[in-house]
Amino acid sequence: MALAITIESLTRNSGLPPLETRMLIGQILKVSRSWMIAHDREPLTDEQVVQIRALIERRLGGEPMAYIMGEREFMGLTFETSPAALIPRPETELLVETAIDYVRENPRANVLDLGTGTGVIAVSIARFCPGALVLATDKSPDALALARRNAEKHRTAQVRFLESDWFEGIPPQAFDLIVANPPYIRRHDPHLQQGDLRFEPPMALTDYSDGLAAIRRIIAGSRSYLASGGQMWIEHGWDQAEHVRYMLAKVGFTQVESRNDLSGIERISGGCFTI
Ligand code: GLN
Repeated sequence: MALAITIESLTRNSGLPPLETRMLIGQILKVSRSWMIAHDREPLTDEQVVQIRALIERRLGGEPMAYIMGEREFMGLTFETSPAALIPRPETELLVETAIDYVRENPRANVLDLGTGTGVIAVSIARFCPGALVLATDKSPDALALARRNAEKHRTAQVRFLESDWFEGIPPQAFDLIVANPPYIRRHDPHLQQGDLRFEPPMALTDYSDGLAAIRRIIAGSRSYLASGGQMWIEHGWDQAEHVRYMLAKVGFTQVESRNDLSGIERISGGCFTI
């Protein structure tokens, strides 16, 4: 059967959005969506249709597109994704853009990305700021392996990796910039049982507490790891900005502020550290 007819009938039968059906077909055929448009009379083999149906079943079971496809765009770059780490989200680009602004002013900055997951934050900073030296840490060896593959993919040799539970395994040193997208969802938040989140590593989503436990640890530890004049920026939940600003100010950060993501939500907070 020709490609166009197969797409049509699979979409109708599955109820998936046509874009998703096309993406899944592209995954099996190993071709781009534009190729499919130009070759819509190309016949598919029975075996290909069986493989496509298997992916559609996974998607209908709720598995995130990013895990089925094995990749996701972030900052205009393509990153490998896997259930070892959180799926990169567009709002996290705000954290990276803020970090890039800092590093453009301080081109040789020593940057720390705590809980790197897929590595998108560390690798994007390194990719856009070649003079920066970045240390990316994670508690999960599987996440670190994934982050390493993403660094190789984007040829960012200036990113180093270290297995560490927040600051616990990091040798004493002074960073100019610390960034983190820690788990910040409250333990019983119903969102954890919904959508893509059901398939993501719980450790990357929730602190199994009030949502601020990881952020608290990061803020408490940061003072011993920041150079004077350095900055720290943390991503957090939609209702946590005020609390995070308060905690930052309390341990001595100055110029503490929050910034809005594209949905107008206060998504990151940070400040300067002066000894
Ligand atoms: N931003 C994610 C969400 O709300 C949570 C990720 C995190 O805890 N860092 O789905």
